[in-house]
Amino acid sequence: MQRLVILGGGESGVGTAILGKKKGYEVFVSDKGKIKNKYKDVLKHFEIDWEEEKHTEAKILNADVVMKSPGIPDKVALIQNIAGLGIPVISEIEFATKYTDATIVGITGSNGKTTTTMLVNHLFKEAGLHVGMAGNIGDSYAKMVAENNYDYYVLEISSFQLDGIIDFKPHIAILTNITPDHLDRYDYKFENYIASKFRIAKNQGPEDFLVYDADDEVIVKWLQENPIQSKLIPFSITKKLEEGTYSEDKKIKIKTQNNTIEMNTDTLALEGKHNLKNTMAASTAAKLVSIRKETIRNSIATFQGVEHRLEKVLKINHVQYINDSKATNVNATYYALDSMKTSTVWIVGGVDKGNNYKELMPLVREKVKAIICLGEDNSKIKDAFGNVVDLMVETYAMEEAVKVAYKIAERGEAVLLSPACASFDLFKNYEDRGNQFKAAIKNL
Ligand code: ADP
Repeated sequence: MQRLVILGGGESGVGTAILGKKKGYEVFVSDKGKIKNKYKDVLKHFEIDWEEEKHTEAKILNADVVMKSPGIPDKVALIQNIAGLGIPVISEIEFATKYTDATIVGITGSNGKTTTTMLVNHLFKEAGLHVGMAGNIGDSYAKMVAENNYDYYVLEISSFQLDGIIDFKPHIAILTNITPDHLDRYDYKFENYIASKFRIAKNQGPEDFLVYDADDEVIVKWLQENPIQSKLIPFSITKKLEEGTYSEDKKIKIKTQNNTIEMNTDTLALEGKHNLKNTMAASTAAKLVSIRKETIRNSIATFQGVEHRLEKVLKINHVQYINDSKATNVNATYYALDSMKTSTVWIVGGVDKGNNYKELMPLVREKVKAIICLGEDNSKIKDAFGNVVDLMVETYAMEEAVKVAYKIAERGEAVLLSPACASFDLFKNYEDRGNQFKAAIKNL
């Protein structure tokens, strides 16, 4: 019997455990922290051996294969020891993929993964396809493979998941964009992070597709220097393409060798240039699996967006409150500010991941009336924007930030929470930050 050791007893770990057990492995789950009760119940139910708050090497180093949760860095001693023994260390998507023949759409990028994944899922569902959506959203992929028999999987895939693949191969890969993020995990080398994202295409052949943002210079340059096997399908909002997807005259045009389909952009449910890009990427995937154009048209007009991503919360006294708590890096906030059509009170701050705020300057000058800093340490934001806006207020709790915003914002203006930073100084995670924002607004 092959021994499968799983490091990390979260959603992907427990999903992998269920699938491993079903496929006849001897499974052991080990978590350095505490395992949530709901997952313990599952492990007990499936009679899977586990431990928490420790890693017992004797029960780990005898593995035939190790599945590592994406949260654990490669650098830690345990992983080095395992790798040193020649035991393969893989990710959940690598493990699960062996056990399904479904067609896979894999979506990666620095920003826009969740939105694009949900859009593709929505498009496929509306077309009547039997599709499962997984990745960072909802149930794990491995659990779905264990319990369902879908024809298609739409997977949101992080670079950490890609670092742990060997044979994983999506039929359609979407690369939304590449901007610096998570560099702490890549020896502070942007090129390592870029290479990691492109692993999504590494096993693709000429019958597979890579849909990518042709306006993204990082992606285009990498492709010029590193030819890949798959058929390239670019999308662009700035230029007309011979083959690919572009926008022109308020229309999205998907052009293939055989034909072109067109869809109006004024009926799109999602706002902002970045969402136009996400919509183009998702529609292209839909076209590649031959979904009819009427279905694509209708589906992109009805898609309702995703919580914490430019989510319109409420209008109070003609001031629109917008929750973009998921904007944990500068690029995401760039698109949020870019999409603002009115003067904006901007709530920003948190844990800075080495941000460079320079690219936001023109947008801040043009659109931001006041900045409300919300973080334990706001010094970088003060340095960057102190001279750029007339009014800057420091706050240390969400309720306070929202109250201040309420006082400052006037009729016709907007209050935008788009932190450009991670949340764990004052909040559990970005969802908690967004939920506290919404609750504070409702309490005004
Ligand atoms: P991810 O799953 O990659 O983190 P999300 O869809 O959750 O992406 O969006 C994260 C943040 O990035 C949100 O603030 C959202 O408004 C913004 N965003 C969404 N799509 C894009 C894009 N294509 N380019 C830049 N920013 C984007």
